[in-house]
Amino acid sequence: MPPVDGYTERRRTVASGLAGRKLDAMLIAFSPNLRYLTGFTGSNGSLLLLPDDAILFTDPRYQIQARQEVNCRVRIAKGALLLDVAAAIGKLRLRRIGYEPSRMTCDFFNSLTARLPLKTSLEAVSGWIEELRMIKSPPEQQLIRRSVETNSRAFDQAVARARAGMKEQDLAAELEYRMRRLGAEKPAFETIVAAGARSALPHAQPTRARMEAGGLVVVDMGAMQDGYCSDMTRMLFLGTPPAKVKRTYRAVLEAQLAAIDTVRPGVSTAQVDRQARRVLKSYGLDRAFVHSTGHGLGLEIHEPPRIGKRDKSRLKAGMTVTIEPGVYLEGFGGIRIEDTVVVTETGCEILTPTSKELREI
Ligand code: ZN
Ligand code: ZN
Repeated sequence: MPPVDGYTERRRTVASGLAGRKLDAMLIAFSPNLRYLTGFTGSNGSLLLLPDDAILFTDPRYQIQARQEVNCRVRIAKGALLLDVAAAIGKLRLRRIGYEPSRMTCDFFNSLTARLPLKTSLEAVSGWIEELRMIKSPPEQQLIRRSVETNSRAFDQAVARARAGMKEQDLAAELEYRMRRLGAEKPAFETIVAAGARSALPHAQPTRARMEAGGLVVVDMGAMQDGYCSDMTRMLFLGTPPAKVKRTYRAVLEAQLAAIDTVRPGVSTAQVDRQARRVLKSYGLDRAFVHSTGHGLGLEIHEPPRIGKRDKSRLKAGMTVTIEPGVYLEGFGGIRIEDTVVVTETGCEILTPTSKELREI
């Protein structure tokens, strides 16, 4: 696993923000944040980040792995991690410790609090590491680009075998198999293959239903490669598409291109979303667009910023986001087109290399 350089630098960035938040330390246990700050990929770990030190607590299953992946201090706990974390906090005489409220279970919080000295308090700190993660460094952008390329290649290889009569599940299995063969660790999320009227379900799971001639198929897939996600949606049509399909497809494609066109540093994410809705409205399809226009992605498939109606964030260079308007018409089907793009200094670059033509099979 080629680690992204700069874990020490990332930890320093967090460490230098402790004083401003009146914290003696920050406790991080959410695994994408742990990976971001240390490179650790295990499922059980807690990082105690101090102004000039960092200790990763994990269990004996990760003894070898942690030492290979991590360049800060590692403590292997014999029992529950929180006992060792609490003991270290006591020994270091830490008073105010930041923690991630949306990422810590009530159980862990209560057990830890019960074991801390009376004068020590846990302070909720929300979204700090996630905010740092929004801007991708050049090596991270490179990893996302590779994940996107693997994903698109897997799509091409699997779709070459798609035909009428094939089960949704079988196409999904083929897509995931190809993805792994091409270097992905796993799919970044459950692959969506939905045929015919089922394509109108934005989050359909593949079933034993067969893809029938004269029907639409939505394929929404993403790879996770070296920890980084990709995300793409493309549409297939089994046969020659009728006028209504062509017109609806054109509307969604126009909306997607218009939204991508607005992506540049300083633009609000709500503005990008509005652009997609404006185009769909001109086709009388805005009510059929039932989700937001996109989301950030990186170590997680969904991470900030969100690109929706009510979002307040502004785009910055280095963010990687999806642009994925869609329309969903009951009884007819759904059409969504999704690319992964990176915000550059002057606009954006579409990373997804796959053609956006409606693919006829
Ligand atoms: Zn997707
Ligand atoms: Zn997406």
